[in-house]
Amino acid sequence: MARPQARAARPAPARARRRIYWFGGGRADGRADMKALLGGKGANLAEMARLGLPVPPGFTISTEACTYYYAHGGGYPPGLKEQVPAALARVEKAVGRRFGDPQKPLLVSVRSGARASMPGMMDTILNLGLNDRTVAGLARETGNPRFAYDCYRRFVQMYGDVVLGLKPETKTERDPFETVLEEKKRARRVKLDTDLDADALRELVAEFKALVRTRKGVRFPEEPEEQLWGAIGAVFGSWMNERAIVYRRLNAIPDTWGTAVNVQAMVFGNMGPDSGTGVAFTRDPATGENVFYGEFLMNAQGEDVVAGVRTPLPIAALERENPKAYAQLMKIRRTLERHYRDVMDIEFTIQQGTLYMLQCRVGKRTALAAVRIALDMVRERLITRDEALRRVEPDGLEQLLRPTFDAKAKDAAVAAGRLLARGLAAGPGAAAGRIAFHADEAEARTARGESVILVRIETSPEDLRGMAASRGILTARGGMTSHAALVGRQMGKVCVVGCEALLIDYEAGTLRVSGRDVVLREGDEVAIDGSTGEVFQGAIPAAPSEVVQVLIDRTRDPATAPVYRMFAQLMKWADQVRRLGIRANADQPDQGAAAAAFGAEGIGLCRTEHMFFGEGKLGPMREMILAETVEERRAALSKLLPFQRADFEGIFEVMQGRPVTIRTIDPPLHEFLPHDEAAQRELAAQMRIPFERVRDRVEALHEFNPMLGFRGCRLGIVYPEITEMQARAIFEAAAHVRKAGTTVEPEVMIPLVGHVKELMLQAAIVRRVADEVMKQEGVRFRYLVGTMIEVPRGALTADEIAAVADFFSFGTNDLTQTTLGVSRDDAGRFLVPYVDRFNIYPRDPFQSLDQDGVGALMKLAVEKARRARPDLKLGICGEHGGEPASVRFCHAIGLDYVSCSPYRVPVARLAAAQAALGPD
Ligand code: PEP
Ligand code: MG
Repeated sequence: MARPQARAARPAPARARRRIYWFGGGRADGRADMKALLGGKGANLAEMARLGLPVPPGFTISTEACTYYYAHGGGYPPGLKEQVPAALARVEKAVGRRFGDPQKPLLVSVRSGARASMPGMMDTILNLGLNDRTVAGLARETGNPRFAYDCYRRFVQMYGDVVLGLKPETKTERDPFETVLEEKKRARRVKLDTDLDADALRELVAEFKALVRTRKGVRFPEEPEEQLWGAIGAVFGSWMNERAIVYRRLNAIPDTWGTAVNVQAMVFGNMGPDSGTGVAFTRDPATGENVFYGEFLMNAQGEDVVAGVRTPLPIAALERENPKAYAQLMKIRRTLERHYRDVMDIEFTIQQGTLYMLQCRVGKRTALAAVRIALDMVRERLITRDEALRRVEPDGLEQLLRPTFDAKAKDAAVAAGRLLARGLAAGPGAAAGRIAFHADEAEARTARGESVILVRIETSPEDLRGMAASRGILTARGGMTSHAALVGRQMGKVCVVGCEALLIDYEAGTLRVSGRDVVLREGDEVAIDGSTGEVFQGAIPAAPSEVVQVLIDRTRDPATAPVYRMFAQLMKWADQVRRLGIRANADQPDQGAAAAAFGAEGIGLCRTEHMFFGEGKLGPMREMILAETVEERRAALSKLLPFQRADFEGIFEVMQGRPVTIRTIDPPLHEFLPHDEAAQRELAAQMRIPFERVRDRVEALHEFNPMLGFRGCRLGIVYPEITEMQARAIFEAAAHVRKAGTTVEPEVMIPLVGHVKELMLQAAIVRRVADEVMKQEGVRFRYLVGTMIEVPRGALTADEIAAVADFFSFGTNDLTQTTLGVSRDDAGRFLVPYVDRFNIYPRDPFQSLDQDGVGALMKLAVEKARRARPDLKLGICGEHGGEPASVRFCHAIGLDYVSCSPYRVPVARLAAAQAALGPD
């Protein structure tokens, strides 16, 4: 939308459209479901008025008027100039006061209010209608000149700032009005604003106006009508102020929505000891408990509550202060919950003993509160089970599985300046511990009983054991599907990645933060919040998750774990309605066990390369890579075989007959070799081969673009003996476990297939080995051979590939990388501005599926594949498999299952249920 320029000349339509919607006195033109037209505030004021709640009368200028304003260079729509005075006259009549009347003046508030809540982003003006004449009337009428002049000086200050644009001219300059106010207090030798008497406030008004005249070259408008139009224009104008634009970008709110303007009769909470103001939630928004929750201040205006000048009292104390208003408020609480069938967040004012409602909206809540409220409301018969399932944000469920920082301790850390930097929130939860810069250091410290945060520029498969040993992982580089993020999530670690402000010097053993005078060393304490991406200096205490204590640690009896029981109930309902199957990405038995405990119905991706880093395995693996002949390679592979077999046996046992998809080796081989000379020399010594051979081989394996290089099925095609060994290990493990009485159903998956011939070559090896092993072991079991679809050519030729595959699993990490031509490991630097500043993608496409691009390819592949082979099993195992919007997309295109990291399994279960329920 363009900023207003010249007013366009347009012929007025025959009859002006309605731009104004009345509320008050038990009637309203609008309704709660008219948020698009009236904004959230206006729609709910209308709804409350309809409910007969005590709403000061007023009117809402529609968002359409704002849209018109921008489309017509800052001009008001035809008819508005007539409709506003008419509506104002109706307000005057309703309250028995007149705008600009020196005896009984009507004062109004002019507030913004968009369709989606944008707290504090746009402008508001209070006490409008005051001038030198009306202020005297107000003083006389209330018998309280101090009150009247305090309103007046607040009005001149607010109007001067918001409408007339009198703001600090430099970053360092204080608010000019505040400077004058401070001078006045000094001159009068008082400390607080409230100590200034009526005379001082009257002088302030004159000084504020003089300030406006000298700084802005305009006279402060005395006429209430002129003030009102100025305020309306400013509120419309504030839709396009910079912070509102940034907020909309961050929250995916379209610029085209526009804001409404609410003009409402003022009521005052600062008219004396029988007046007051407060905010409340109909239930506790932190715990969800069914208790009235909020606070209030007597003899105060809204901004005093927010500004924290005086400490508000808990809402229960209102019963003593004003039993009548309290009883009325309790009744309103019930009325609103029954009516909206949800928890509401309200604002109220008591003016000389009379209660007024100024706002209500659906209350924001924590994940725990969302679950408790949804379940309680089903019990109270306010909502159905399906509605309860829809009410809970799936993403929030992960919070219930994570330790969380003590909120007060975290606030104190922020206040103490210990917040060092912010990265990408890659693995939620809270972790504090000592810094280890290297994986072996992390292991050593953990072995000594320390809690460790592994801090790396980035991680690689070499760091796996150190990552597993650490409580949290923090990296300076990498995006949401970088190694650290993906593996950290799979391990259930708290993880912050791509924290570009961190300057890590491995040699010096230091961690610096750009722009901060801080040097941290190995062993120093840091705390990371993987739900927000925040990094703190020093420790912050955290509390464990009840759900994990019951399901994973088994240290807690479900009978004593109410949060667990709520979680379990919601999950049970979700499972009853979802169609999509839910699997997990896991490559260790403990990960498989965790996934099963969280409700996974199988493993959708076991990355075998992660298994090569365990005890005793890296040596033969490196021998295999360094081998120069097939014989040497086979010899090394035969050493690896028993390890792999044992690993697979562990997984099959733990999964107890659930399907397990095992992927053959995928990453470029150089990832398994050491890159610095010292480590290369050590490896050469261990293997009793010349150092030069190791060095040369590492160099020979170097690739300019390893992600598009010698990896995936390309390895198994050029070195078929690798696939053969892996297939043998899988099937022998399956045979052993089968013979021991556990059913098994291995699914062997070939990565990075772009051409059907690639799959044919690999599938032939797998099937041959399966036959051999079954014969040799004397046991038969079902198995499948399938492929990942993770390069565009694979998707485009899905029909040909389907003819050979038993199943497809979309590897959307690579498919996003290859479709967008964006490196999953290097994208952080530009993807963040791409999303936040330029709005090119609504969200990080490695996190939430790019449905128009990658999704279109998937849809095409599904259609082609199902046409060729209707019974083909289809899943997804990229990180998107645990992201709610992507899960909904997978449901919509007809996949059979999604597979995600174990701690995302509950998220996927709920998202799948919501997908099955469809839109509201
Ligand atoms: C993928 O590419 O989506 C995938 C699951 O494989 P990886 O992340 O191991 O490349
Ligand atoms: Mg991949």
